[in-house]
Amino acid sequence: MSSDKAAARKASHYDAIIIGSGQGGTPLAKALAKAGWRTALIERQYVGGSCLNYGCTPTKTMVASARVAYQAGRANEFGVLARAEGIDMEQVRQRKRDIVLKSRNGSEKALLETENLDLIYGTAKFKDAKSIFVQRNNGGTAEFTADKIFIDTGTRAAMPDIPGFDSVRHLTNVLDNVSIMELDCVPSHLIVLGGGNIGLEFAQMFRRFGSRVTIVQSDGQLLTHEDADVAKEIAKILEEDGIEILLNGKVTRVTGTGTEITLEFGGEAKKKIAGTHLLVAVGRTPNTNELDLPAAGIETDDKGFVRVNTRLETNVAGVYGIGDVKGGPAFTHISYDDYRVLRANLLENKQTTIEGRMVPYTIFTDPQLGRIGMTEKEARKTGKEIRVAKMPMIFVARAREVGEMRGSMKVVVDAKSKQILGAALLSMEGGEVMAMLQLAMMGKLAYPVLQEAIFAHPTLAESLNVIFEHFSE
Ligand SMILES: Cc1cc2nc3c(=O)[nH]c(=O)nc-3n(C[C@H](O)[C@H](O)[C@H](O)COP(=O)(O)OP(=O)(O)OC[C@H]3O[C@@H](n4cnc5c(N)ncnc54)[C@H](O)[C@@H]3O)c2cc1C
Repeated sequence: MSSDKAAARKASHYDAIIIGSGQGGTPLAKALAKAGWRTALIERQYVGGSCLNYGCTPTKTMVASARVAYQAGRANEFGVLARAEGIDMEQVRQRKRDIVLKSRNGSEKALLETENLDLIYGTAKFKDAKSIFVQRNNGGTAEFTADKIFIDTGTRAAMPDIPGFDSVRHLTNVLDNVSIMELDCVPSHLIVLGGGNIGLEFAQMFRRFGSRVTIVQSDGQLLTHEDADVAKEIAKILEEDGIEILLNGKVTRVTGTGTEITLEFGGEAKKKIAGTHLLVAVGRTPNTNELDLPAAGIETDDKGFVRVNTRLETNVAGVYGIGDVKGGPAFTHISYDDYRVLRANLLENKQTTIEGRMVPYTIFTDPQLGRIGMTEKEARKTGKEIRVAKMPMIFVARAREVGEMRGSMKVVVDAKSKQILGAALLSMEGGEVMAMLQLAMMGKLAYPVLQEAIFAHPTLAESLNVIFEHFSE
């Protein structure tokens, strides 16, 4: 090999390549580079991945706009003579775009300023277990090799397998989580296909913007992983807000034009509903189809999610999976924790695994659903003797004062050890209240400690003094 060729080869070799600048990949790239590893981060679109660009950040900015609209509509309840004149969707969108752009630019700047780190814009795929081919966004191509390769390519909205869907999926009124946040007007009638967390957040948001909203859920309850009583209570709240909910809605055909989408349902009483827009929120598909994983011999499950062990290693030595692409749990903080696990094992010589880690999450409906640990259903399956405390929010002074009495707090405890096994906080700031219970679980505090703790009055924390007076058995 000529010395020129050898030098060129060396230049395209990295200690680590990270594919996808998601919530785990970005901090990992920085940490490895700071530790002296020659690192490449390859991103096909925007730094920050789904969370920053199409997920958490934009949805929560728009949920905030929707909440202002809702509160404006309630102004009279608080003795304020004001009313919402309407929604300027272009301004809602601009606010969202500005916040996203600022975060994205900040994140990109930090990457560009990191020594030993190359940020490469392009679509990556495997050539073999140590080589990556990149179709650069600027038109060129490149090939790189690396000792270690990390896959953090995330997911995209899954499309339903329903007759007729292929003929409507490219219509401008058939939306996913990306396109719905780029609308410049409020849909007249939005049908939300899917009653999971993403579907519910958008359903309530657009109802508050003024759309008629119908949620079509194929199961018998919304949020199928939650306890039935919690899911029912959320459904009641959404219905109070004027959202129509169709449970057990098995769609048998979709038809439509750019102005109307019709869903047909099978069964004896065949019926249809028609809306102006359809949001598809039926789950997520892993971004592995473009990676050519077979070229490297990397195994996936039958849905295409990368298989990893508890140390996030794939079946191929030196190749790892991070975040949603490994099958979740699909949350930003879990992808970030994957980064912590890899950092510990690769840079700190530890033997950390993802086994048994806590998976808190919050669904940003209003009221929020903050969740930690086991549901009641899961706790009962363990065979442990459990007790369940449940208290309506109307019992909480803080909630009454600010007019947020909808929802309830539910905590499952171990009857013997008195430790908290799980909680579902369907309440104002439910995510924050959940975190207090999470801390108690982390510190292995028995519930009577919370019951007798002094919390400032009037805060939501104070509810932890009273909830344990509400055991059902
Ligand atoms: C609407 C919505 C709302 C959400 N709200 C929340 C929330 O409130 N809280 C929460 O915790 N989670 C939320 N999530 C989930 C959260 O966004 C994800 O769990 C998180 O972004 C996962 O990060 P990740 O590391 O797996 O990768 P991602 O953030 O998905 O990033 C993957 C990156 O890889 C890039 N990529 C893909 N293929 C290639 C390739 N071949 N070559 C180069 N680059 C590639 C993509 O462009 C993308 O930038 C939400 C998701 C959605 C869709």
